[in-house]
Amino acid sequence: MSRRSTPDLPEPQSFDRVLSSMCTLPHPAARAAAERFLATNPGDPGTYPAVSSLERRTVSMLGAIVGVNEPHGYVGTGGTEANIQAVRAARNLVATDRPNVVLPDSAHFSFEKAADVLDVDVRTVPTDSDMRAIPDAMAAESNEDTVLVVGVAGSTEYGAVDPIPALAEVARAADALFHVDAAFGGFVLPFTDFDWNFDHAPIDSMTVDPHKMGQAAIPAGGFVVSDRSILESLTVETPYLERDPQVTLTGTRSGAGVASAYAAIDAQWPEGYRRNYERGMELATWLAAEFRALGFESADPELPIVTADVPDRQFERLREGGWRISRTGRGELRIVCMPHVRREMLEEFIDDLA
Ligand SMILES: *Cc1c(COP(=O)(O)O)cnc(C)c1O
Repeated sequence: MSRRSTPDLPEPQSFDRVLSSMCTLPHPAARAAAERFLATNPGDPGTYPAVSSLERRTVSMLGAIVGVNEPHGYVGTGGTEANIQAVRAARNLVATDRPNVVLPDSAHFSFEKAADVLDVDVRTVPTDSDMRAIPDAMAAESNEDTVLVVGVAGSTEYGAVDPIPALAEVARAADALFHVDAAFGGFVLPFTDFDWNFDHAPIDSMTVDPHKMGQAAIPAGGFVVSDRSILESLTVETPYLERDPQVTLTGTRSGAGVASAYAAIDAQWPEGYRRNYERGMELATWLAAEFRALGFESADPELPIVTADVPDRQFERLREGGWRISRTGRGELRIVCMPHVRREMLEEFIDDLA
């Protein structure tokens, strides 16, 4: 049978000028695996056992990446779902009538959604001049109603890595759970000297997104916990499915996401990801120097994310020129050196800016 094309289906996207997205071209193995598992639902393991066992293997591989020997968890829709689940588990496990979550102001906006749907207070704590959480300030905001303390390992805007071991202490002192959001950082931090994972601190749960630096197909997010009881606190009975209660937030899930996460990690961990990291850092460091050479303030990047003080007028001109770029909350131009970003793209971009 020949493949039938749909004439009015538009081209989805060229990545030629995409500079601010945390998504990227999936690895070829991830693309093939996604297509093969399109019609599977890991949310119903009794009926779809192959994808279900693939998911268990994927969680094991995620565990190896984030430093936990016996990981529990699942592959969900992304960082937002994993962060919601972390807040939900903490709310279910810590007894209080007025639960609150303490997080740095660099935390992702998904925690606001979590707080809203779960009816939990959010206590946002200012970060230091390097955009990192300040443990003493986080401790000062925690109290007996704190159910979760959050640290960010690779912030969305700046790639900043919080002092994770010190924040674990803050959580412990408050009798709260400790969650690390490494949605972006999880696939680059293994190649740095940062203390960020389960091996470096007593962490209860972590977000790590295969569909960002992991080069899996969307949707593939990871929620990983060190103790089964955390997952069990999320259990809901599932009468009409063949078997097994669910701990996930969504019901039907993407088998394509699971299979592509498995294939991407299997193909690339660790050396392929190391190359992506090194390439991304080289580009980011070069780019920050180019910004400065043109007179725009730009700090040396710690992860492959560059920000620069570029005035509105130039920013808008670049967007009109087709560059897909965004700004931080403070207004800086922000560029993420994902695997699809090449030196020639950045040279062209810098030429346009100049
Ligand atoms: C991207 C990101 C998220 C949200 O992940 P989605 O997959 O977009 O839901 C959460 N936290 C951090 C640190 C992120 O960078």
